Amino acid sequence: MSPATLPRIVQAGDPVLRSVARELRDDELGTSELRALVDTMIAVMRDAPGVGLAAPQIGVPLQVLVLEDDADRIATLPEAFVAERERIAWPVMTIVNPMLTIVGNETRTFFEGCLSVNGWAALVARGREVEVTGVDVEGRPLRVQAKGWPARILQHEVDHLRGTLYLDRMFSRSFVTADALASRWSKVTVAEAKRALGIVETD
Ligand code: ZN
Repeated sequence: MSPATLPRIVQAGDPVLRSVARELRDDELGTSELRALVDTMIAVMRDAPGVGLAAPQIGVPLQVLVLEDDADRIATLPEAFVAERERIAWPVMTIVNPMLTIVGNETRTFFEGCLSVNGWAALVARGREVEVTGVDVEGRPLRVQAKGWPARILQHEVDHLRGTLYLDRMFSRSFVTADALASRWSKVTVAEAKRALGIVETD
């Protein structure tokens, strides 16, 4: 699919991002319609580029998410930055009707952004480790365990399917432009950013 024919990514303010996405019925799994939706979502995610996308972000209120973190892209990032975030290459994956459980009590706080809140980022505390169950495009059960950055992506995308944006979970004092993130806040530690922005983490 050429970038010109891809659907636009819906931006904050559209009610589809605030509604609970519908679960797919058994008879909708393994269909050409679902495969086409997933192919489109993967193309949109790669074109953006982003590491995850939920169907409501292209205006489709269904419980479908895709994620992918590319080794080549990770290789362009500073080693310490990658290690701190526990960011690892993640092959492209589709999860339909996901149920997410946070494993353990550990949390991690990092800046995150959203393709539907284009041009902004904020610090968000997320569980370090998750387990997600659901089915794949063909309706085969799947169970995914993830730690670090992929666990963050999964929490962010499953939130989309519940009508939740990172804005609902962020430290509001850390809301910064993507430009400020690139030029300033991605170059200091999260602890330094919190101090400079006046954030006290209570959990
Ligand atoms: Zn998002």
